[in-house]
Amino acid sequence: MEDIAKNLQRTIAEIRSICNKAGRNPAGIQLIAVSKTKPAVLVKEAFEGGQIDIGESYVQELVEKQGSEELSGLPLRWHFIGHLQTNKVKDIVGKVFMVHSIDRLKTAEELSKRASRQGVTVDYLIEINTSGERSKFGLPPEELLSAAPHFFNLPNIRLRGLMTIASPERSRARHEFHLLAELLEKLKKISPDPHLLTELSMGMSQDFDLAIEAGATMIRIGTAIFGSR
Ligand SMILES: *Cc1c(COP(=O)(O)O)cnc(C)c1O
Repeated sequence: MEDIAKNLQRTIAEIRSICNKAGRNPAGIQLIAVSKTKPAVLVKEAFEGGQIDIGESYVQELVEKQGSEELSGLPLRWHFIGHLQTNKVKDIVGKVFMVHSIDRLKTAEELSKRASRQGVTVDYLIEINTSGERSKFGLPPEELLSAAPHFFNLPNIRLRGLMTIASPERSRARHEFHLLAELLEKLKKISPDPHLLTELSMGMSQDFDLAIEAGATMIRIGTAIFGSR
């Protein structure tokens, strides 16, 4: 059995120590506990251990957990971090704190349309395929700046930054995290609302140290908190 509260405390201590070495303020890093494939009862343990931000990768699983006996009514902030199909967008609007994984204009347009209909505003990040691996989702880095003006113009959604999933190999991951940070700076230069572009969602259980060194503001940790999947 995993001791979720203990895993959380260990992870938070690691974040502090990495921040110390990197000269960063730990308050500038939001830990998102990724609970995909794990039962609601473990998410509840995380909440009782002080964790508010929860990441999910599958729409149906997210909706089921939110409605579960264990979790309904708890003041959790849900982050959608998985690949989002256009036809599933309607199922998460109004239910999530942030969507991290918008990887094409078409999905952003649908998010905008559904958010407008519900009269809400949705915060989101654009996912960038920094590794160039064909198996990975995300906008190619070289397309971001030309596509960005189309994203900026969409009503009822607010672009807050960028997200990436890095290569397993550490020297590549380091490079990819720095690439994402550079892209965010370039994006700020052409954005009508640069003050909103504050977030770099990058780093998972295996590589969050590198992501923090490169400027991550949100790290998405699954295995180190909930155990292996
Ligand atoms: C599963 C997942 C994570 C967490 O990965 P771990 O290696 O278990 O920490 C983070 N981000 C995304 C997009 C994921 O799908």
